[in-house]
Amino acid sequence: MNVVDLRSDTVTRPTPAMRTAMLDAEVGDDVYGEDPTVNALQKRLADELGFEDALFVPSGTQSNLLALMSHCERGDEYLVGMDAHTYKFEGGGAAVLGSIQPQPIVQDEDGTLPLPRVAAAIKPVDPHFARTKLLALENTWHGRVLPLDYLGAAHDFARERGLALHLDGARLYNAAVASGVSARAIAQLFDSVSICLSKGLGAPVGSVLVGSAPLIEKARRWRKVAGGGWRQAGMLAAAGLHALDHHVARLADDHRRAAYLAGCLREIAGVDLLGQHTNMVFVDVPTARLRALDAHLRAANIRISIGYLPTLRLVTHLDVDDAGIERVVGAFRAFFGKA
Ligand SMILES: *Cc1c(COP(=O)(O)O)cnc(C)c1O
Repeated sequence: MNVVDLRSDTVTRPTPAMRTAMLDAEVGDDVYGEDPTVNALQKRLADELGFEDALFVPSGTQSNLLALMSHCERGDEYLVGMDAHTYKFEGGGAAVLGSIQPQPIVQDEDGTLPLPRVAAAIKPVDPHFARTKLLALENTWHGRVLPLDYLGAAHDFARERGLALHLDGARLYNAAVASGVSARAIAQLFDSVSICLSKGLGAPVGSVLVGSAPLIEKARRWRKVAGGGWRQAGMLAAAGLHALDHHVARLADDHRRAAYLAGCLREIAGVDLLGQHTNMVFVDVPTARLRALDAHLRAANIRISIGYLPTLRLVTHLDVDDAGIERVVGAFRAFFGKA
């Protein structure tokens, strides 16, 4: 019986068709800019999202870091959500490696950073303060699609206040598919966007940073400094291109399955459904029963991640089908039925 792994959408494995595309990829040395498949991927995303240039990098963490280091200099500051991935789950890289001070802002429940709260955090130009340079948003955030009118307001606000605007769009395509707004329309509101190919899109490795030509030139330099200048990476880029061709529209299936799973869990006494957004379902179960639930699910070849977030997050993706969801529902029912 195959494992239904709900820990994250990073766990997907390349499909047979993706592996064939990888095997057939033309490659060259990307540090020399000579990998045709890497170049094709970069051009594809820059064109699709309406930017001058793009950079293929090993991870979303590195992509965000390079963006921050390219927008900001030593002693600058970036404004970011208190629960944003960039601030909370990337090892403090901007501060550690970029000498960039983060100014966390408490987010609202929908993932937005209220603009008056952001405005209040902007520092005066004065030697006492770090120089506030950049506002970073995340979409989707914990699966939530940030409203387009909010993004538009954030764009106008950033322009008015002379701030650059970066999007951690690890799941930009989930946001686009769920809202019916094109990825390009969302991305165009930002100066730079980081997109993960290795999440719901199902590539094994890689993220892409898009931005202006001068910004990407800086990012390319920092990528080398960070040890991310890779060589014949075309086989990985081929997986990314395959994902963009074949795995975007199908994100709707992940969202539908997450909604179905949420609907079933809501009916189970002992499970407190907190919410479902795009491909993520959030539930609370009594803490005392969490370990037993994990063991019960493991015995049924179902993986969940406990202890990493305060609530239980169940994530659907390419490698979870309808039958897998039914198995999860059955296992939850069996466990809580015995309560
Ligand atoms: C996964 C993720 C990243 C980057 O993750 P890597 O594991 O470094 O590729 C960045 N932002 C968000 C919102 C993510 O979910």
